[in-house]
Amino acid sequence: MSLIDLFFVLCWIGLPIAAGVAFYPVGGLWGAILVGAILFGVLPAISRVIWFCLPSGRGKPTCPRGVCNEPDYKWIYGIGGKPVCRCKCGIKFVADGDDFQILSDDGSVKPFKRWDRKLGWVDAECNDVQCPKRE
Ligand SMILES: [Zn+2]
Repeated sequence: MSLIDLFFVLCWIGLPIAAGVAFYPVGGLWGAILVGAILFGVLPAISRVIWFCLPSGRGKPTCPRGVCNEPDYKWIYGIGGKPVCRCKCGIKFVADGDDFQILSDDGSVKPFKRWDRKLGWVDAECNDVQCPKRE
């Protein structure tokens, strides 16, 4: 569990109880329970929205040969301010924002994968109309 998860769990449990206690003098026992219950349901929904908006740990796509995954990539250097990494097969990649491109020995890059917030890594050429489901 990450610190952010822990924070949300603490809020999730603590805030409804605190709100219920605070509301008790006004709304009585049932009022307090109602306020607590609403917050108990609403907060996870909010946290899910916030979580969705945060940059996620996207990792790296499986390499073109289908052998290497996240731990097999090593960051080696950067070109033009963009980080370059290499997988165990020796293929080099340039990470350019949401694009993951293959870097050839002659320095040219060709599209490989693109990060999609909903779908994960998709083929770089794919557009919203025709996308594979997931890696
Ligand atoms: Zn590889």
